[in-house]
Amino acid sequence: MIALGIEGTAHTCGVGIVDDQGNILANEIKMYKPATGGIHPREAANHHAENLVPMVKQAMEKAGLKYDQIDVVCFSQGPGLGPCLRTVATGARALALSLKVPIVGVNHCISHLEIGRIKTPAKDPVLLYASGGNTQVIAYANGKYRIFGETLDIGIGNMFDKLGREIGLGYYAGPKIEKAALEGNKLLDLPYSVKGMDMAFSGIMTAALNHRNKGERLEDICFSVQETCFAMLCEVTERAMAHVEKSEVLLGGGVVQNKRLQMMAEHMAKERGAKMFVPDRTLCMDNGAMIAWTGLVMHRSGIKMTVKDTMIDQRFRTDEVDVTWR
Ligand code: MG
Repeated sequence: MIALGIEGTAHTCGVGIVDDQGNILANEIKMYKPATGGIHPREAANHHAENLVPMVKQAMEKAGLKYDQIDVVCFSQGPGLGPCLRTVATGARALALSLKVPIVGVNHCISHLEIGRIKTPAKDPVLLYASGGNTQVIAYANGKYRIFGETLDIGIGNMFDKLGREIGLGYYAGPKIEKAALEGNKLLDLPYSVKGMDMAFSGIMTAALNHRNKGERLEDICFSVQETCFAMLCEVTERAMAHVEKSEVLLGGGVVQNKRLQMMAEHMAKERGAKMFVPDRTLCMDNGAMIAWTGLVMHRSGIKMTVKDTMIDQRFRTDEVDVTWR
């Protein structure tokens, strides 16, 4: 069985093709980059509309397949930005209808977990999903992927990008913050915002900017923001692991490429006799292969969708999906 998956929840347009062993035959990724400021949803959607068809063709060429070899078309149904989701959903419907194959709408957050389960040795992990738009700690329990903790305001990556813009590091600030943090050594006072099992990030950004205005070094600000936020992520993840008694932690999302976060998560896992896994870089980022793979396992478990069922859902919750494939 071969699945083609289309990702388009935010700035990334992705087309991936996988087989039923989890082999990735193609994984085309193109990112929209705003000229100034953050993501403009309409512009990002236009970017996806322009790139989707050529990217499907490229992916098919890379995979060395003919269109009649595609068994199912999958797409990111949510959560995400409305214009982006609608654009890729329209593309996916058109492709599935013209190929006369089934269509499967996939929850984006769940796909970060499923791709880790097939591409790393993790079998039943707690997922620490940290990206621009999302920050969630997710694990399987009683037929659903349940959210054990999440951000109460903005995604951690969104906070990094906003902070980066304010302190002059430019957009996609994550890697620049990571680099600057290596030169930092003074731990500045920032609000450690874990509330129950949830987290908040916008107050940390405000406090960090106040430090900057008082003349603290950029390197120390980056260092302190990372240390504080990553400790929060690891604390919530560890408590989820203890609660559901799981011995694997899987990282997913763009932010987990940060080496300091990986180091802290690995340390936390080791201390409790658990293991940590990080998929390859292109599989941590938003991508079409994870959508294709998750759609394939959903389809294989008997999930059938009509075109009506493929309405997008900007606020698609991880725990709304009945996990019929486990
Ligand atoms: Mg993502």
